[in-house]
Amino acid sequence: MTEQTVSNSPYDVVIIGGGPAGLTAGMYAARADLRTLAIEGGSTVSQITATDVIENYPGIPGGANGLELVERFKAQAVGFGLETASGDVTAVTRKRFGDREGWEIVAGEQRYAALAVIIATGAAWRHLGVPGEERFIGRGVSFCATCDAPLFRNREVVVVGGGDTAIQEALYLTRFAKKVTVIHRRDRLRATAILQKRAFANEKIVFAWNTVVEAIDGLDLIQWVRLRDVKTGEKKELSVSGVFIFVGLTPNTAAFRDLVTADQGGGILVDANMQTSVPGIFACGDCTAKRLRQVVTACGDGATAAFSAQLYVEELKGVAY
Ligand code: NAP
Repeated sequence: MTEQTVSNSPYDVVIIGGGPAGLTAGMYAARADLRTLAIEGGSTVSQITATDVIENYPGIPGGANGLELVERFKAQAVGFGLETASGDVTAVTRKRFGDREGWEIVAGEQRYAALAVIIATGAAWRHLGVPGEERFIGRGVSFCATCDAPLFRNREVVVVGGGDTAIQEALYLTRFAKKVTVIHRRDRLRATAILQKRAFANEKIVFAWNTVVEAIDGLDLIQWVRLRDVKTGEKKELSVSGVFIFVGLTPNTAAFRDLVTADQGGGILVDANMQTSVPGIFACGDCTAKRLRQVVTACGDGATAAFSAQLYVEELKGVAY
């Protein structure tokens, strides 16, 4: 293979994922003059696009709508030369380009080649795994209040979970629903203090502490949930029209299980430079093993991953400073 082919053929960097982490990585890599492609998921709902208001992203007092914010990220990155494509990546395998080691990325019928890969596939909402949950998705079970809350105007709904997402979404649901019962398996919330205060002050929100959902049932649409008090064992049925489930996240990393090292929950292990266990493969944002999953931390990870990928590609090309 000639030098011309080598430099023209593979992308310098292919980023898998089009959320805050991937697009920030794309902006940094493209701005560093690397030929960069971001492959956005074809079938996944990105968390940020389903978020009504992000009020803790710096520099935007009053908050930003998630979809609008991610569209701004994309426009900014594309402005610096980022190329984009759409598709669900199912495999990343080693490939040689002349004397250089690189990667082939498979997304449906498409094959992309890259010298370095940044995985930024985010995370998906975890399911409860109780009877009725899968059956009633789209018929009362939801993982997105921003998407579905208006369908429950003047209805009674439950929110399952006690973290930031559950409480933020419960607050959003009160704009539409008559009553929102937050069902939490413990007797105190995990959510940040400011969200807790707002929820406790909201007359439409009530709490079912130390309680879990055992089953979701109805005829065509949801009519009730069966609850169990984990302390007393007492069971009861609650009539509701909607069940909003926010019990945490699962990193979208199944396609990379045999490629890079991950923790038990599937979060990709990275060092402070977003380097994975495999040279040339970087990861950033919610798909990594980390404690704080925020837009701002995803962006920071993305910038770091792009810089690391830049150093790696320059070293590979023999143009490192
Ligand atoms: P999370 O913080 O992991 O909380 C998950 C909640 O679901 C916990 O209360 C947990 O209970 C409960 N839970 C887990 N498995 C369960 C099960 N099988 N049955 C019943 N309950 C279960 O997840 P998250 O709220 O989606 O937040 C994810 C990340 O995004 C966090 O880093 C969070 O800070 C961030 N986030 C931030 C904001 C914001 O800053 N405004 C908004 C949304 C999300 P336990 O408490 O008992 O473990």
